[in-house]
Amino acid sequence: MKSPRFKALGGGDEIGASCYHYKFSWPKSRYGYLSVIVDCGMRPHGRSSGPKLEYLRHVDVIIITHAHADHCVFTPVLVRMFPEAVIYMTPETYDLFLIQMEDSVAINMRNAKETGEQPLFTKIDVERMLMQIKLVPFWHRIDLPAGVSVLPVPAGHILGAASLYMKQDCGRQEHSIFHSGDISFENQCLIPGAPKRFYPNSPINTGVLEATNLHSHPRSTTRNRKEEENRLIEEICEVLGNGGRAVIPVLKIHRQSEMWEMLVSHGIPQSKIFIDGNPSKIFEIYQKHTSISRLPESQIIHHWRHDRWKMWRKNEPCVILASGGMMQERSAALENARMVIENENDALFVVNYMDPCSPGGELLDHIARGKKEIEIGLERFDIRCRVERFPGLSSHAGNDDLLDLAERARDRVIWIHGEDKRVKKHLASAPGHHVQGKNGKGITL
Ligand SMILES: [Zn+2]
Repeated sequence: MKSPRFKALGGGDEIGASCYHYKFSWPKSRYGYLSVIVDCGMRPHGRSSGPKLEYLRHVDVIIITHAHADHCVFTPVLVRMFPEAVIYMTPETYDLFLIQMEDSVAINMRNAKETGEQPLFTKIDVERMLMQIKLVPFWHRIDLPAGVSVLPVPAGHILGAASLYMKQDCGRQEHSIFHSGDISFENQCLIPGAPKRFYPNSPINTGVLEATNLHSHPRSTTRNRKEEENRLIEEICEVLGNGGRAVIPVLKIHRQSEMWEMLVSHGIPQSKIFIDGNPSKIFEIYQKHTSISRLPESQIIHHWRHDRWKMWRKNEPCVILASGGMMQERSAALENARMVIENENDALFVVNYMDPCSPGGELLDHIARGKKEIEIGLERFDIRCRVERFPGLSSHAGNDDLLDLAERARDRVIWIHGEDKRVKKHLASAPGHHVQGKNGKGITL
């Protein structure tokens, strides 16, 4: 029996387009192996933004760890190539995934209209794909052929996010893999952190671990989540006290709901918090699965041109949770950022990861270099508002937690989903069984 094989098709030595191929020996199959894909996402920019699916000859099973775009929105393209593949995800992820698909189809159609090119996928592709989905709750084992089983366990991070404990048991030979997906051990306002001890008796041969915060934010030198929450609330109160407005760019899929709950639970009046970026359906999902506070209709910005202008014209102190975590083109976050950037009383608070190539990443880079102005679209702006980062609010595990997790893998640790230079810095002093999962490079486990 051959050992399992692993290859990152995207999201190996980068953050974005996560897609990982596992091959488990299966002599009875026509291809000789069971082909399992974990995640199929996109990069946040550009049309050539999907994983390298051309490496694949066939796919039996697709498992989606969570509903962030960089982990799931390329799935319809993969299923169009391999229509027989069965897709597994948790029920919570499924609810959020439907919203991602709705948004993605709308974006694809708009891009196709603007460029004259074929859309990446259509509503029909999505409908066909949905027929292949099986829902699997946390802790319910998926039994696959070739003696392979997959146990989805809570990963914290966002609603529905799962880590995967995969095992191939062929009598004489056994191999276990822990695939972390995006993982966080700290409790958030709406969801608990990943459990630290879910497999006390189960050895792990291979850990395939996300490296977003590897070699950064060591716990000893940064604030814990609670302290960071308090710092954000203090900063918001100060801005409101000075008659200013605070814009917080947030990922719509989880962070918008989480931040709403955090602000409300810390006593920020609901009437001062606006939610921009079509949030109603997401909040309904959170109401179904969590204990989130009700969002009053008056606080939702429904129609961007009309409602947003109405809010800005009032010129009252407020907090705006604006969707578009990286301040992408056309996002509510970017539009709101334009409104505050030149005002000294206003603020822009960054609570999540921003890709260096995204508009948000560019703004942070400008500020780090001490530049005083920035171009947004065709306009040039002076940077006068306060811009503050809150890295301790990351919904990814910190460096120390990642290293604790890595200790449990006895044969090999493959770091994926991390900035190339950070992973390389870690590897420079890491034990020999730590490696980087580079895109397109196969590894025998
Ligand atoms: Zn994620």
